[in-house]
Amino acid sequence: MKYPFLDLRRLHAPLMEAEKEACARVIESGRYLHGPETAALESEMSRMHASRECVAVSNGLDALRLILRGYIATGRLSPGDEIIVSANTYIASVLAITDAGLTPVLVEPEEQTMNLSAETAERAVSGRTRAIMEVHLYGTPARHSAIREVAARHGLLIIEDNAQSIGASEHGTPTGAMGDAAAFSFYPTKNIGAVGDAGAVVTADRELAAAIRALANYGSDRRYHNIYQGFNCRMDEIQAALLRVRLGHLEEDRARRQAAAAAYAQTLDNPLVVPPATIDTMTQVWHQYVVRCSRRDELRAYLAGQGVGTDIHYAVPPHLQPCYSTLSHGPLPVTERMADEVLSLPIATVTERQAREIAGIINNFK
Ligand SMILES: *Cc1c(COP(=O)(O)O)cnc(C)c1O
Repeated sequence: MKYPFLDLRRLHAPLMEAEKEACARVIESGRYLHGPETAALESEMSRMHASRECVAVSNGLDALRLILRGYIATGRLSPGDEIIVSANTYIASVLAITDAGLTPVLVEPEEQTMNLSAETAERAVSGRTRAIMEVHLYGTPARHSAIREVAARHGLLIIEDNAQSIGASEHGTPTGAMGDAAAFSFYPTKNIGAVGDAGAVVTADRELAAAIRALANYGSDRRYHNIYQGFNCRMDEIQAALLRVRLGHLEEDRARRQAAAAAYAQTLDNPLVVPPATIDTMTQVWHQYVVRCSRRDELRAYLAGQGVGTDIHYAVPPHLQPCYSTLSHGPLPVTERMADEVLSLPIATVTERQAREIAGIINNFK
């Protein structure tokens, strides 16, 4: 492929020496868990997110699971409670809900942001609803200011799935510091990626943070004293050290993605292909650059023939997966159409010039 969809080696190349040095420092330190790198990463994440508390954990799915189980442990959610979530999310959002014995209520996203719609969310509120899971998909924030009003009217918690949008904001408020608690993923392909699995929870709620810290460490609040039947969901010190290097360059990475997205937006000009919306009240961080096309599979094959790698996020929504064949939900035609139309273009490492070239190739698709 002349334009690979994603090349993780190339993504790491500019910082490779600093990353190796960080890893070597950990190996030589003899501290591999619960050490100074994890503590420093937590305080750096905290500083980025309105001084909320941060708990570094094993991965993004565990971050979501720990938030929900932390709310159960502290008596604010109970098994069977309903959590509203957009139906076009990545399946991990829904897996965390069912894992905790809670009930996902899948609702249609809005067309423009491809995120939760405050209106459909409000229509889905029932007597059992206790929380809204606000997923910031593809690097675009959900419309938090509208969703927050719905949550306030009905006394609901807002849990953010911020796996894809670290560094984004709406009206100046960063994603991850909008709701009651937020989950982050540092999966290798995310905007800040580890060399393996890692994740984090950010919350202003000290009681929840303490419960999550204990749950992630065998349920233990101090050595050999277990207040919960917990798990092992810790972040490795070596990942924390490497992530600190990446986090220190978040702004450069974001600026590069924004420049490539702007080049796509300026150049794309094909009535068959709908580019993603640029929203002026938001800072979007372009985890994915997702266009829509009713002849998506043909477009994808055409692009592959022209040397352009693409991917689909996501071809099969959670409610159509075999594991959720018995999950009840209403009709979800918008979600199903999006799944048939979305196509992710290269964004993580493309230059502005490459984005213009790829857009030019798309403009010739008939
Ligand atoms: C990646 C992702 C997750 C899960 O994160 P992992 O670190 O892979 O466990 C959860 N939600 C969304 C929206 C994601 O994109």
